[in-house]
Amino acid sequence: MIYDVVITGGRIVTAKDDFVGEMGINGANIATLSDEVGRLSGRTTIDAENKLVMPGFLDLHVHFNDPGVTHREDFLTGSTAAAAGGVTLIADMPLANDPLTLDEQSFAAKRRAAAEKCVVDYRLWGGLIDDNVDNLEAMRACGAHGFKAFTCYAGDEFKFAGEQVLRAGFRETKRLDTFMGIHCEDEQLIRRFAEAAPKSSGLSHFLDSHRQEVETVATRNVIKLAVATGSRLHICHASLPEVVSMAREARDNGALISVETCPQYLLFTTEDLHRIGGPLKCTPPVRDRQAVDGLWDQLRDGLIDFIASDHSPATREEKSAELPFSEVWGGINGIQFLFQALYTEGVCTGRISLTKLVELYSAAPAAFSDLYPRRGTLEPGSEATFVIYDPKIPFEVTEQSLLTKNRQSPYIGKVFQGRVDETWIRGRLIGSYARDGFKIMVEPGFGQFSGAIPEKR
Ligand SMILES: [Zn+2]
Repeated sequence: MIYDVVITGGRIVTAKDDFVGEMGINGANIATLSDEVGRLSGRTTIDAENKLVMPGFLDLHVHFNDPGVTHREDFLTGSTAAAAGGVTLIADMPLANDPLTLDEQSFAAKRRAAAEKCVVDYRLWGGLIDDNVDNLEAMRACGAHGFKAFTCYAGDEFKFAGEQVLRAGFRETKRLDTFMGIHCEDEQLIRRFAEAAPKSSGLSHFLDSHRQEVETVATRNVIKLAVATGSRLHICHASLPEVVSMAREARDNGALISVETCPQYLLFTTEDLHRIGGPLKCTPPVRDRQAVDGLWDQLRDGLIDFIASDHSPATREEKSAELPFSEVWGGINGIQFLFQALYTEGVCTGRISLTKLVELYSAAPAAFSDLYPRRGTLEPGSEATFVIYDPKIPFEVTEQSLLTKNRQSPYIGKVFQGRVDETWIRGRLIGSYARDGFKIMVEPGFGQFSGAIPEKR
């Protein structure tokens, strides 16, 4: 038998397996795997010797700002950076775009924008604000990934949900067999700490008003509501081991709770924030060394469900040191480097295994999205959606290496071990590393909508 494509000699790593071998691909799917090398023949053969071959990554928390806020990012630039990071599916958040994704029409508008430009596959979140709970059903019918809500200020338009609205949202998402993903910071506490804090330095004032209690109190409150309504809750971007522990404790008691963290909480501390400033501003903020070490331990021990970038870019001006820190945009430009960063700081240092990292960024988010084992692993019958990573080459992040629309990021200056060589989706090479950087090889719009519609699975 001659396969369309054979990937040979690579180290094939999934959440369950790690072996040197080869993979035969026919059309969009994986046909066979072998732990011997030189057995399969293909019309095209890719030599992956000394490289890692892994299932494509899924990043379930990104803000690509399209439509309407495309001076920050759009579906083409965002998905190009994603592909360069080995990401083959993203889930785009319902805010930081215009119109906000709060009803059927705005959901359809975003879907059109993505269909035109996205080079990787995509899911779309809907939003829950103070007055749109009646719109959730229609967005769910359109295939919404889940519904995002805030317990704190999230812009004048994205009016955050109070307790009554959250409770209604939980009841509705349960009825619709979906879930809520919540940004957990308590608005009353933020305001109280902000008023009490000395106003001297903008950055210190920011940290004072986003203290740990802000996140832990909000987390405790939303867990209570999820438990009371028997609904599914996903805790977005946990920055503290205490938040992860609360989620696990509730789950051990039968609650339907999952939790993610992001690389910014694993790679940076408040000391780094004082050094880097604007490009590292995000909420919740980065924490101290103890919190960072605690999160790494929890990742290793399987207490965190998956990782996501919370990619939320801005222009250089919006991140500028010239601005008062309170006016700097909060959000990290980072989807391009999540795997490289955690491979370098987690796997190469021995903090977590490579199979664990692949689980956290591929198998687990695929399972969370009901896409496993079509996605998130490499086995016969799975989609030929995978990444070839060259772990030997040191990679320095420079402004020039950023493929996002705006060339600011807290990762600039970091040196990572290795880089993504090739990204494949459904048997097609969609991008590869050339002499002068990562190049996309498919047309804008190659990516497909991956709707969470039970009937269509
Ligand atoms: Zn976010």
